[in-house]
Parts: sequence; structure tokens; C-alpha cells
Amino acid sequence: MTADRGRTMAVVPVRDATLPPGGAEAVAEAGGVALLAGGGAEDAAAELRGSARLLLVWESPEFQPGRWARAVAGACAAADLVLLPACPDGRDLAPRLAARLGRPLLAGAVRVGPGYAVLPRDGDRRAVRVGITGPAVVTLRPGVGGAAPVRPEARCSVRRIGPAGAARDPGEARVVAVRVPEPGAADLSEAERVVVGGAGLLGGPDGGAAAFAALSEVARALGAAVGGTRAAAEAGLVAPERRVGATGVRVSPELHIAVGVSGAPRYLAGTGDPAHVVAVDRDPGSPMMAAADLGLVTDAPGLLAALARMLRDEAAPGTAADAVGDG
Ligand SMILES: Cc1cc2nc3c(=O)[nH]c(=O)nc-3n(C[C@H](O)[C@H](O)[C@H](O)COP(=O)(O)OP(=O)(O)OC[C@H]3O[C@@H](n4cnc5c(N)ncnc54)[C@H](O)[C@@H]3O)c2cc1C
Repeated sequence: MTADRGRTMAVVPVRDATLPPGGAEAVAEAGGVALLAGGGAEDAAAELRGSARLLLVWESPEFQPGRWARAVAGACAAADLVLLPACPDGRDLAPRLAARLGRPLLAGAVRVGPGYAVLPRDGDRRAVRVGITGPAVVTLRPGVGGAAPVRPEARCSVRRIGPAGAARDPGEARVVAVRVPEPGAADLSEAERVVVGGAGLLGGPDGGAAAFAALSEVARALGAAVGGTRAAAEAGLVAPERRVGATGVRVSPELHIAVGVSGAPRYLAGTGDPAHVVAVDRDPGSPMMAAADLGLVTDAPGLLAALARMLRDEAAPGTAADAVGDG
């Protein structure tokens, strides 16, 4: 079925009736026209009512990128530009879909406009504008666009599709298990919670190694991804690709905890619009404090060490009382 006659269409992989990070943004970039594929796609479509115009939904509980590409290619072939969120499933599906459609793939764009995409290069140090001169598939990094505003009165047409060519191929890649990554490895741009360490952790004889280890322990307990400011990345305490900010990874979490981070404009420009911001700093007048809902004015390495100790003691019952005291 070829339902889209417009020039841009989003293809959004859905799991358990939930849109992936960047899914709503891809739909907004596509002008509200999208194909949602996956388990609970029709329920996920409800999230987009009021912000989407035309939604094609294909129920397919098991993610199989090769099969999905074959299945949905016909439905989006009429769109010149096919946009996918650069979430894990989107990144798996996009190259297969591009190959199926015989188009180039522009991966991990931070902006898409008429006839161009902006792609980060050199570990996000540079942004390159690439011309799009014909039909293309583009993956869009989550957190860079923003979802379309909801207009409750807007009409949205939802159509179920049963694409052809969706037969299962036993030789194809399939998902065996989905594992939650360690905080140090979790994708920052998609994380709902981030804990970021800054230059305020770098003091001490070890240059901040112990403070960052404690930060990771705290982040793991919170189910949060770990990042660093430019100062922390330059000190080697986080990998360069985990540097948050205007020229690093752009995050868009629900919860942002900044520890020993001053909140410089170049940093704040990459932190999105979180619902909750916690700042830990010894300077009550720092810009990060001004941006926070909760500010803790204290020595950050000391606080992290105390929290990490408490977590360890909690994991070893019977000693929790010893943990409280010197933080
Ligand atoms: C072109 C350009 C691009 C840039 N891009 C980025 C970017 O993408 N990301 C980025 O992060 N930066 C970027 N920067 C750098 C940015 O301007 C800031 O210099 C940087 O963000 C500062 O990092 P920081 O907050 O860790 O350090 P600082 O600004 O030095 O802040 C450290 C904070 O820790 C506090 N502190 C110190 N000791 C303690 C303690 N013991 N306990 C508690 N608090 C303490 C201090 O009060 C201070 O608030 C860019 C700069 C330029 C020029």
C-alpha cells in the first residue's frame, strides 16, 4: 500500500505500545505524516493524536529489521524523504530500508531542512551541512527537534496497514534479548535521566577519578546515564563522546543532575528542557544553581562519596547505619 503522497514521511519503530526516543520528533519533522510499526503500534498512535495528520499503523510484535524493511518499503516509497528516529531500532531499520528503497542513508542528523541535513562529524566536534538532491532516508538524533505542539481539535487519520512481503526469513537477524546498558555505556541522547560531572569533581590527588567512580555508582542506582562537561572530558574522566553541551551530545532527559557543573551557556545549550534539574555545587550563585529546581550547596566529591558508601552499605545489609555521618 502506498498511502503517502507527501514529500516527507516518518517511519517509527514501536515497542510495547511506546514510541521510542525521538519518535514524536521524527513525526513532527515529517509534518505529522508517519508509519508506526511494531507491537502496540495502534495504541502508540494515540500519543500522537493532536500533533499528527496521517498515521499508518502496522502491528508486528517482533522486531526483525530486515523483514520490517521489506514490509514497509512500499508504504513509504512515495515519500522523497523518509525520516526515522536514530533510536536503536531506528538505526537497525534505516539502513535496511534505505537499501530496499535504493536510496542513500544520512545517519544521525541533528537537523533536516528543505534539501539538506546537518550531520555531526569528528566525535560531534563539527557539524556538516549535506545537500539532499534526491530521495533519501535520514535518521534524526533524538532530542534535537522537539515534538509538535498538541492541538486537541486537529484531525488525525489513522489507518491500519497489512504490508505485503512481510514473510519471516529464518536466516535474518532477530532480537534475542533487550538488556539495560550500564550507566557509563547508556546512550546519553536517549536517556530519561542523566547525571553529569564537571570540573568541581576534578580536585584531589587522583584528579577526580574516585569522584567520577562514585558518580557512576550513584547514576547506576538511579538508572541514569553518565556524562561530563567539556572540562571533565578534557581531563579524561569521561569519553569525548559523553561530553554534554552545545558542541557535544545534546541530551533531553526528564531528570538532569549536574554535579560540580557551573552551567556555562555552551553547556546549558545542550541540556534540553528537563522536567527536573538538580544542581550540586559549592557556589550557590552558579548559573546551574539558577537553572535548578533543587540546589544542594555542598562539597560535591564528599557528597558523592557518602552516597556511594550508603549504596554499598545498603547492598550489604546490617551496616547501613555506619554510612551516614561524614558527607
Ligand atoms: C566554542 C565552545 C564550545 C563549547 N562547548 C562546550 C560543550 O559542548 N560542553 C561543555 O560542557 N562545555 C563547552 N564549552 C566550555 C564551556 O564554556 C565551559 O567552560 C564548561 O562547560 C565548564 O565546565 P564545568 O562546568 O565543568 O567547569 P567550571 O565552569 O569550572 O565549573 C565548575 C563548577 O564546580 C564548582 N565546584 C568547584 N569545586 C567544587 C566542589 N568541591 N564541590 C562542589 N562544587 C565545586 C564550581 O563552583 C563551579 O560552579 C565550550 C566552549 C567553547 C568556547
